[in-house]
Amino acid sequence: MSDLASASRDTTPAGYRKLVAQALAGVPVGAPATDVWRALGAAGALSTLYRRGNALGPVADPARLGALLRAVDARADNGATLSVLVQAASALPVLGSGRSGPASAAPSPVAAAWGHALAGTAQVALAATDEAAAGSDLSGLGTQVRIEGDQLVVHGGKRWVTNAGTAEYLLVLGRHHPGRHFTNFSWVLVPARTAGVSVSPAPTGLLANSATGHIGFDSVRLPADHLVGRNGRGMAVFARHMSTERLAGAQWAVALTGRVLADTRERLLRRTVDGEPLWHNAVVRQGFAECLVRVAQLRALCDSLAETAVKGQSLSAGTLLKSAVGLTVDTVLARCAQLQGADGFAAGGAQGVRAEAGVLGIGGGVTELMLAGVADMSEQLLAELRT
Ligand SMILES: Cc1cc2nc3c(=O)[nH]c(=O)nc-3n(C[C@H](O)[C@H](O)[C@H](O)COP(=O)(O)OP(=O)(O)OC[C@H]3O[C@@H](n4cnc5c(N)ncnc54)[C@H](O)[C@@H]3O)c2cc1C
Repeated sequence: MSDLASASRDTTPAGYRKLVAQALAGVPVGAPATDVWRALGAAGALSTLYRRGNALGPVADPARLGALLRAVDARADNGATLSVLVQAASALPVLGSGRSGPASAAPSPVAAAWGHALAGTAQVALAATDEAAAGSDLSGLGTQVRIEGDQLVVHGGKRWVTNAGTAEYLLVLGRHHPGRHFTNFSWVLVPARTAGVSVSPAPTGLLANSATGHIGFDSVRLPADHLVGRNGRGMAVFARHMSTERLAGAQWAVALTGRVLADTRERLLRRTVDGEPLWHNAVVRQGFAECLVRVAQLRALCDSLAETAVKGQSLSAGTLLKSAVGLTVDTVLARCAQLQGADGFAAGGAQGVRAEAGVLGIGGGVTELMLAGVADMSEQLLAELRT
């Protein structure tokens, strides 16, 4: 039996970490994100990520999700990490929630896509942010999903979608009814090669390996079995799984800031001024320590809210986590970038990492919107603090 096969039978946290490490060992740093995904799928790191049997769809094991993101982040390719994160924590749970069908029937297109994605042989992009509305105004989205007899017609456009340029499958949130009511929205599985689909790269040099792009749907026709879950359940399913993506964002933030802090500390130990390492300077040490405390706080919040977040039963866990990410990442990375001096501007240096990590305060909900959510839930959150 190969090491990889024996590791895949080891269901302990250490066994999962070993499985992921072995899967990624053969993928050169800087390889396309599709290679990273394929290796993870082939090793069984995606099929063993979720707990099954939940009526609302797959639930990620939080410790495994954290281990997966830490291992991918260690490759220092933020585009590839974003690509894996959005699929593992958001697209696959939503897709998996709609895969069930009659046991005897041939697998539905949704079940087939789920199988390919788990095996790593296909990528799935999750397209929610719409060209017709601000991303912070999700229920204002304009992309339409019409049911015409036994067909679906998808018309509209999506912006800034991770994996748009590489995904075989596009998971698209559209509306079947005008208005903002949460039952007006549904998910549709659109194979990327369907007639009427067009993809263009997003105009950015950041997160290059994430294949982020914009997608157009020009009256795209599909059989009705490409609806993911029941008609009108789109927002409910999304809300249910959103907290998992927010936990994943926080787990990635801890891994990324911890990695940059470690690198910064090494540099400060080596860099001398008047014969003394900069690390011995009291101001430098204090600034660094403040950052370390912030990251340790974020890590503690991840640990305490992880189970609640993946079960998706309360909005507050994800909202708190994503707010904390927004308040932590840029402060820490800005300090690290400053402490790296001119070297922070080198390719792959802390200044560039900081710009790429900005996605943690934008993608999947901007920090201000999260903080507004915390204020909305403040009565409940304050009561929890008193228990
Ligand atoms: C690299 C990258 C990858 C992405 N991947 C995906 C993906 O895979 N799938 C997907 O569907 N989307 C994706 N997105 C889109 C992302 O989810 C949206 O960008 C995000 O929801 C914000 O929407 P917006 O950019 O339209 O900003 P807007 O909603 O226009 O907001 C602009 C700014 O206004 C301020 N603001 C907004 N709302 C409020 C408020 N309520 N209170 C106070 N201030 C506010 C904030 O400063 C905010 O940054 C991605 C984005 C990026 C950058």
